Amino acid sequence: MLKGKRALITGSTSGIGLAMARALHAEGAEVVLNGFGDADEIAAICDELGASHQGANLLDVGAIEAMMAEVGPVDILINNAGMQHVSPVEDFPTDKWDAIIGLNLTAAFHTTRLAVEGMKAKGWGRLINTASAHSLTASPFKSAYNASKHGIVGFTKTVALELAQTGVTANCISPGYVWTPLIEGQIPDTMEARGLSREEVINDVLLAKQPTKKFVQPSEIGALAVFLCREEAGNVTGANWSIDGGWTAE
Ligand code: NAD
Repeated sequence: MLKGKRALITGSTSGIGLAMARALHAEGAEVVLNGFGDADEIAAICDELGASHQGANLLDVGAIEAMMAEVGPVDILINNAGMQHVSPVEDFPTDKWDAIIGLNLTAAFHTTRLAVEGMKAKGWGRLINTASAHSLTASPFKSAYNASKHGIVGFTKTVALELAQTGVTANCISPGYVWTPLIEGQIPDTMEARGLSREEVINDVLLAKQPTKKFVQPSEIGALAVFLCREEAGNVTGANWSIDGGWTAE
């Protein structure tokens, strides 16, 4: 269904981005991966998906520009790379604030501004930004993350309006808690910030928010990304799609 389409997915060496890359590949898209990781593992993923890999650090504007120039025009751009840090606002490390806003929000501005011309020229494009349930609601100790995710929704809506008559759509996907390395990595900090055990963080902090009491599966997010790339989703633009087990319905 996506044969002939070229997709660049940032942060796709792991977690949600990798699941989206697998889902788009399964529909026939040519996939360009981005993200960090073990070189052998990345090479294995490239083999599996017939994909190429761009190792650009998205905190470096020059590296983003070089990556976009090397990749050339893309039909599908998924801005997915993201990071988290958990700390009370008064102790929040300023370098962490800058990095989180830089990766979760500013990098998407740069890739988008560099991809739009090619999409407009083709009269078709799909911009998908991985936001979060934290784009719609907040949790304590995640000030930078919540700000970046609320921000990416505003950015996406703006781009959707600007491109509304061009055949290019722009949407956010907002997952609740998905079991990925990002979630696993924030458990120790949350244990410390809240004085809880690992089990208490999982059951009382993470899944406490999700009425289904289940982590979202990365493959479910891949399926939603595929839908947004379909022709039938041509009128879906400027939307923020929750996939959060009912979290933000409360
Ligand atoms: P992850 O840690 O598994 O993957 C993050 C990816 O980003 C990796 O490929 C990593 O190499 C890449 N990356 C990190 N820093 C980078 C940089 N400077 N330049 C380029 N690439 C970089 O995380 P994940 O859980 O799959 O998260 C993916 C996205 O989903 C993020 O935007 C995150 O905020 C969002 N999200 C995750 C959850 C969840 O529960 N896991 C929930 C809601 C939203």
